Amino acid sequence: MSIQVADDKKVIVKVPLGTPAFVADCFVREKKNWITRQLKKIENQTELATSMGALTEDDIKQIKKKARVIIPQRVEHYAKIAGISYNRIFIRLQKSRWGSCSVDGNLNFNCLLVLMPPEILDSVVVHELCHRRHMNHSKEFYDEVLRIFPDYKKCDKWLKLNGGAYFKRLPKED
Ligand SMILES: [Zn+2]
Repeated sequence: MSIQVADDKKVIVKVPLGTPAFVADCFVREKKNWITRQLKKIENQTELATSMGALTEDDIKQIKKKARVIIPQRVEHYAKIAGISYNRIFIRLQKSRWGSCSVDGNLNFNCLLVLMPPEILDSVVVHELCHRRHMNHSKEFYDEVLRIFPDYKKCDKWLKLNGGAYFKRLPKED
């Protein structure tokens, strides 16, 4: 069984075929606190997005421009410190993730990161760079991240809590 709280605050429960309703009910009741927390998080993000204001297509153009200057500088900075090499850097507007690292060493970053406090952008840069050493989220990976960026946990928590609000500022697709 699995449970998921969607962005529109719909609670989706998946159960194997033939599961009695009372078993599913019980499962949902057990997860009540978790569901409440997720709903609260979505409400906070919606509020934060409203207070920051919606982004226009023109805003996004400017954000990309800024990101293509700033992000490669931060990558270069941390790559030097950590002695990590990389291939190409791609900066795009992505609607669900902040960064990724491909097997051939290309780094992808979400341009929205430049709207956040600078240490948040840095934490994502270091995360993706460290995937050049560990292509996983093992303890060794996080040890490496923390060695280069000791405030990582604080920033990651911030991003998980507030990051969603930035997606909510994007223009709605038809
Ligand atoms: Zn990762």
